[in-house]
This record gives sequence, structure tokens and C-alpha cells, in this order.
Amino acid sequence: MPPRLSFEWLHACSGCEIALLNCGERLLGLLNRVEIVHFPLLMDHKYRGWGGGEGEVNLPEAEIGLVSGGVANEEHLLVLRAMREQCRTLISFGTCATHGGIPALRNQWPINEALRTVFAGQEGKDLVPTEIPAQLDRVYSIDEKVRVDVSLPGCPPRPEMILEVIEAQLERQSLHLPSKSVCETCPAVRTGKGQAAVRRFLANAEYDPEEPVDRMRCLLEQGLLCMGPVTAGGCGGKDTPLCIRARVPCRGCYGPVRQGGNQLLDMMNALASNGIDHRGIVDRTSLLRFSGAHGLLRPRRHKI
Ligand code: SF4
Ligand code: SF4
Ligand code: SF4
Repeated sequence: MPPRLSFEWLHACSGCEIALLNCGERLLGLLNRVEIVHFPLLMDHKYRGWGGGEGEVNLPEAEIGLVSGGVANEEHLLVLRAMREQCRTLISFGTCATHGGIPALRNQWPINEALRTVFAGQEGKDLVPTEIPAQLDRVYSIDEKVRVDVSLPGCPPRPEMILEVIEAQLERQSLHLPSKSVCETCPAVRTGKGQAAVRRFLANAEYDPEEPVDRMRCLLEQGLLCMGPVTAGGCGGKDTPLCIRARVPCRGCYGPVRQGGNQLLDMMNALASNGIDHRGIVDRTSLLRFSGAHGLLRPRRHKI
């Protein structure tokens, strides 16, 4: 019997699953080797009413399970725990799963305040629906709720890397995910003499479009808030990081370089050590836009 693969998505946008489809023909090779037993994006699957009543989840057993998205409500929690129970190896798939990602931006507000704001009706009517699953107090990354065997960050992860991770599990080989920062894989020219202040990215970076990216001056040294120093590398494979290739600053979508890192604090340190004044940053918490789980983004004092 071929090894079984199971996919689940929680508070997710489906971009991680689309990245898997972007593997193109290489995906066909994988499909020949495995049996996909659960994939809500592609296959109809009823969760309830087989093994029990309302509130129970019945998922098939699998050798490898991939879960994308953050954990935002009780239903996510039920499904995630069922995946953990049924999958021998559990992979957190994408930055929402590994670090909270975009859904964890919600953590800046108390949940009731966020719900009232999102569902506010006209003339102050409260239209919070009662039929949605009970929300958790905040959005959690997967490893805050269950044991995770492999963390695969990226918003979304690089398609080739998704396949490499799955294939390594199938072959039971150890896997070396990139441990360098975006900066360490970036060919932009650094002189050590940057701007003294950060400027808003309202105009293009300075570069000659006729010249290769390794002739462009480092974007951070140009005063643009490039999060390359504090973001895990790998988005460009062995090539230039994706955003730098497009001549725009890294926004931090692979999460922190080291497990447990804090992109906000690390970036403040990186600015200070480069002699750049951090006061030009309009919204510092935006530095955690991809990594607000693990208690890093918390409710602010003021209202939305
Ligand atoms: S990591 Fe990015 S692509 Fe994947 S589910 Fe989250 S927002 Fe979507
Ligand atoms: S700060 Fe940005 S542009 Fe500069 S080297 Fe790092 S990744 Fe490249
Ligand atoms: S350069 Fe940064 S924001 Fe862009 S894809 Fe890579 S890690 Fe993500």
C-alpha cells in the first residue's frame, strides 16, 4: 500500500495548497508514489457523524499530515488534534501554521472587540453571528497546541521545498531546511554606510533596471525597511530572495531566522547596529505581521 498523505487547513487562505500545485510536473511524480486520503480543498470530506455526534472529528490515518493556517477557533482545535492523532509525522505548512501569519494580526485586539468591529451593523447594531464556531482568545500557531515534527515556513513556502520536505519524510531521510537569513542569501551591494533614517516605501528603490540585482545597493542602506536581516531565508532557493529579485524590500514572510526569534525586537537591534533611527517606523507592530503567534502580538490599549 502506498504511503498515505493527509492535508488540512485551519485559519488559512489556500495559498499554501496553491503553492503545492505550483510544483507542476514534479507533483505528478509524487502522486504516483502516495495515496492522498484527505484534502478538503480537493476532496469532499464529511467530518462529523461517523464516529460520534456533533463535536467529534473522524479523520483517516496517514503516514504524513500537513496542516496550514493558524488555530483561531474551537473547530480548528478539534481538527488539529484529530490530525495529530492520526498522522505519524505532522508538518506545519506555511507561516500561518508555524508563526500565526496573517490571521494572528487579530491578536492585537481582544476577541470580542475584533468580532464586534468586523460584524458591526449600521447604527451601532451588533451583528456578530451566533452560528460561527466559538473563537479562541487569540490565534495560535500549530506548535502552541500540538506537537509538530517539521516546521515549513513561508507565505507560501517555496513549491520545491514543499516537495523536498514530503520526499524526505517518505525516504525517512533527515532534512536540512535553510538556516540562513534572507540577507545572507541576498546579493545586493552593502557598503556599511546606510541612511540614518528609515523612509516609507512610497517610491521605488534606486536601481538601474538594466543592471543585475547584484549591482543594486542594499535596500536597507537606501533607507527602506527591508526585513532581510531578521527573516529566515530560502524563498529564492539557491538564487536571489524573491522580493529582492523584484527590487522590493523583504516583508518578513518566512518568519524569524531562529526558532523562538522575535522579528520586531531583532529588527530594532538590526537598525540600531546599523546606525539607523527606528523612529521613522510608523507602526512597529507591523514587523510582526507574519509572526504574531507565541504571544508576541497582544491587545493594544486603544480601541480599533
Ligand atoms: S502562510 Fe500565507 S499562503 Fe499559507 S495559508 Fe497563510 S496566508 Fe495563505
Ligand atoms: S537588507 Fe534587504 S536588500 Fe539589504 S542585503 Fe538584506 S535582504 Fe538584501
Ligand atoms: S524576500 Fe522576504 S517577504 Fe519576500 S518572499 Fe522572501 S522571505 Fe518572503
